[in-house]
Amino acid sequence: MCGIVGIVSNDKEVARDLYIANWGQMTRGKESSRIVTFDGQYHVIGGMGTPDIVFRGEGILKTLKGKSGIGHDRYSTTGGSNAHNIQPIEGMFNGTPFWLAHNGNLVSYQQIKEKCERKGYLFKTSTDTEVLAALIYFSGKKSFREALKKALQQIQGTYSLVTLYKNQVMGVCDPSGNRPLIYGSGAGINLLASESAICDVLGIKYIRDIPPGELVAFHDGNKENIELISLFAPKEEHPCIFEFLYFLRPDSKWHNRRCQIVRESMGAILWSEQSVVADMVIPVPDSGNAAAVGYAHAAQLPLVFALFRYHGVGRTFIEPLQGMRDESLRIKLNVIPELVRGKSVVVVDDSEVRGTVIKRVIKLLIDAGAKEVHVRIASPPYMHPCYYGIDTYRVKDELIAMRHDGNVEMIRQEIGASSLGYLSLAGLKRAIIEGGSDDLSETSFCDACFTGKYHIPIED
Ligand code: SF4
Repeated sequence: MCGIVGIVSNDKEVARDLYIANWGQMTRGKESSRIVTFDGQYHVIGGMGTPDIVFRGEGILKTLKGKSGIGHDRYSTTGGSNAHNIQPIEGMFNGTPFWLAHNGNLVSYQQIKEKCERKGYLFKTSTDTEVLAALIYFSGKKSFREALKKALQQIQGTYSLVTLYKNQVMGVCDPSGNRPLIYGSGAGINLLASESAICDVLGIKYIRDIPPGELVAFHDGNKENIELISLFAPKEEHPCIFEFLYFLRPDSKWHNRRCQIVRESMGAILWSEQSVVADMVIPVPDSGNAAAVGYAHAAQLPLVFALFRYHGVGRTFIEPLQGMRDESLRIKLNVIPELVRGKSVVVVDDSEVRGTVIKRVIKLLIDAGAKEVHVRIASPPYMHPCYYGIDTYRVKDELIAMRHDGNVEMIRQEIGASSLGYLSLAGLKRAIIEGGSDDLSETSFCDACFTGKYHIPIED
């Protein structure tokens, strides 16, 4: 997860657009937010919490001066959720500061960190990201771009990155293309962001995804001044399948596929694989909305919004602690009893990781008088922890499908559903592949959380 953004403008201060981008990407991480701009010197504002809280206050954005800048919304994976670990983080290159923001996980960071510490580097954070800053510091290269390249060649893991070095913004994706990074341009600005929807929000044109292993650099807002440099020889692509399923905003595009359309298609295929006789389809809001639309349409059943989601609470999945997740879930979800009393209902969600949400949903519906509650999930059982950018490796024993060894009947009993059905992995991939026209194939995904096949080896 995490949202990253980098903007350079020809003629205006970029703080406001960076703020809008951080705000528009906070669905990817809401633990902390920071913006760094440059106008001959760096200006930095950040804090714990979402951008609307961190940057609240008359005139705060006016102090972030400059026509170049980067921003970050954090969802912690490596390193605790605290003020020391807020990104972008600062590094030093040949006596000049630079800033770095990261989405992903560097799986080999621990050994590199120990090596850099032995050479005298003082780490200020406990994030994996800072090893990149340390490697840039020790690179011995004359240009920042060469130093970044050398640092990236020494690490293993998943990353989409943006850097700010003086007035220049650079962005790069790891050679497997695991995390999204898009490029947009227009109205005198060049932009890199995690979500293509930010281009719509800012009224500029989405140009394309940044391909795996490619570095993009710009120091003004002119499209023709963009530099594209291939850092790594092309490798097999492994975009995170969960981005299509859940992480990306429904209105964002990745690999020429609009997430809302792909997710509706997942729901339709789910119905063809896991049909059930019922009176209505109910989405688990908001993550199950699109799949429920596809399911209901294919099943020719009414789509009923019988679950109310209170939007004052964000995504519960990305709460760092289970206690917080439970509490925000109680505030977040409620049922409209008149809509479900005496009915057989099918509840559709995009995925089931810990089982926390679906248990709450089933209890709400049964307490409200639903006769039967059938559950349909628009992805396979989540069986293996992710080491590439979401925090499920810290909570292996909380993964409901892993605990039951993928036994659907045992999972059904634990959650208390009348019946339970999952979308097959082949069905999930089909929905994505058929949702666009480029060359994604069955083998071109990271699907390790469903299959246990990790495309980047995981160290102990
Ligand atoms: Fe995405 Fe799952 Fe791969 Fe992690 S393991 S990168 S969540 S597909």
